[in-house]
Amino acid sequence: MPTLNDIKNCKCPKCHAKSNFSIHGHYNRNLVIISEDDNLCHEYNVVVTRVICNSCGSTHALLPDFIIPYKSFSFDSIICIVEEVASSSAYKREIKDLNKEVKYLNTVIDRFKVTIKKFIKWICRKFSYPSEDEIVRAFERETNIFIDPVKQIAKEKREKEWDREL
Ligand SMILES: [Zn+2]
Repeated sequence: MPTLNDIKNCKCPKCHAKSNFSIHGHYNRNLVIISEDDNLCHEYNVVVTRVICNSCGSTHALLPDFIIPYKSFSFDSIICIVEEVASSSAYKREIKDLNKEVKYLNTVIDRFKVTIKKFIKWICRKFSYPSEDEIVRAFERETNIFIDPVKQIAKEKREKEWDREL
């Protein structure tokens, strides 16, 4: 905590008299510091020195630079909170953008599925194929590819795992 020695060259904020102070007592003050170790708030009790100006009789508290007048949180802790709030709002924006992207991708996939179904129907009519199921089965049998992308991806994953085991 600052002492009389630290304010040797200070002027009285009220009458501007230079370094004409005497100790005028002490008081306890609450200080909250966010610890860098656990990110939790820790309360401290600090003793603040009051001085009196010998010229005008006004009293002043000698606050160290990490204490903000009338605030419980230390200067560093307030900066820490502001940074936390700013980064969490940036994070929320990113999630919102990602959700938008996922929604759009799902729309693309759904549209593609509908088009594939229409395409199979069209092929059947065009080449007088008896049934849509039959043409899908024939395609899957001859190419070894599932029309259903989820099934196909699962199959490829299984094959990769088998390859690793061999
Ligand atoms: Zn003064």
